[in-house]
Amino acid sequence: MRVGGPARYFCVVRNIDDIRHAVLFARTHNIPFHVLGDGSNVIVSDEGFNGLVIKPDIKGVHFTENIDTVTVIAGAGKNWDALVGQTVKKNLFGVENLSAIPGTVGAAPVQNIGAYGVEVKDIVAWVKVFNTNTLHTMKLSCEECEFAYRGSIFKRPENKHLIITHVAFTLFYKGNINTGYKDITAHIKEHNLKVDALSPKDLRRIITVIRSRKLPDINKVGTAGSFFKNPILSKEKFSALSHIYPGLPGYDTGEGNVKVPLAWIIDKVCGMKGTRKGNLALHDKQALILVNRGKSTAQDIKKFAEEIKDDVKRKTGIDIEFEVSLVGKF
Ligand code: NAP
Repeated sequence: MRVGGPARYFCVVRNIDDIRHAVLFARTHNIPFHVLGDGSNVIVSDEGFNGLVIKPDIKGVHFTENIDTVTVIAGAGKNWDALVGQTVKKNLFGVENLSAIPGTVGAAPVQNIGAYGVEVKDIVAWVKVFNTNTLHTMKLSCEECEFAYRGSIFKRPENKHLIITHVAFTLFYKGNINTGYKDITAHIKEHNLKVDALSPKDLRRIITVIRSRKLPDINKVGTAGSFFKNPILSKEKFSALSHIYPGLPGYDTGEGNVKVPLAWIIDKVCGMKGTRKGNLALHDKQALILVNRGKSTAQDIKKFAEEIKDDVKRKTGIDIEFEVSLVGKF
């Protein structure tokens, strides 16, 4: 978001030994630590972080070929999209819908990144973590990660002692391309493409084009992508709101709930799409995205986001949550 103060201490860790040293340093100095990916989904407070920021730079990708699948093990510091590019180049199926998402491999399981009908939980085999309490590593299975919509055990405050070092994925030689989302369907129709003939590489190209058109350019403005999570409502709540706001889109989660695109509410119910406040604005092509066009502070961003949250609550009764993580004191 191009805001925030400095870290009191900052270190880059390239292996497990480095992590152990960093954690012991924080322990000796009695300061907290924060693990940072690429910083694409965090807002650091204006006064900064009074502790140690640990940046994993564990790279390396290993492919193991099995009968029907390939196991891909990647270091936490590897750029996520570079990994997707590498697997798609090998014509492997499973991860292509998660193209063009900023951040690192290690950050992907934390909020269970998802896009266009695929979530990282669908392909995670296991996650290797460094336990800062025991100073040892351990492997967590996909089930043990307790993945949920934009969440996992790693997002919970009580699990901040787990530092992700490696992630293993199961990808496939053959698979079905998932083209269900409206932006993809529209692109396929517009370009007269044949769904059956699309490869993971093709889908990656399509998604990269869609996202580059829809999302703000991070070289020009500060942004953290989607600022809020899409709310999940009970069927009753959804039905009541649909009567007040006809046309409200909703997607059955399969668990008796309905996921509602918050961008629609911000746009059609609150009339706030494209709203500006000082240097801050809601992106004109996607109302879920907050952009910083100049010299805003972290406090300005939090205040603006809370105004949006309050307006959504007033008009719909829905309590929305930030998708971004706040780091430091706010
Ligand atoms: P979109 O396609 O306009 O969809 C808006 C919302 O409607 C999303 O919550 C999406 O659910 C839901 N949705 C749309 N079509 C659906 C379908 N066929 N079945 C079930 N749910 C459907 O969203 P967008 O803002 O342009 O973003 C495109 C994709 O990138 C979305 O999947 C979005 O979630 C994802 N994205 C992810 C992150 C992240 O992981 N941090 C950040 C930005 C965008 P889902 O959210 O479950 O997809």
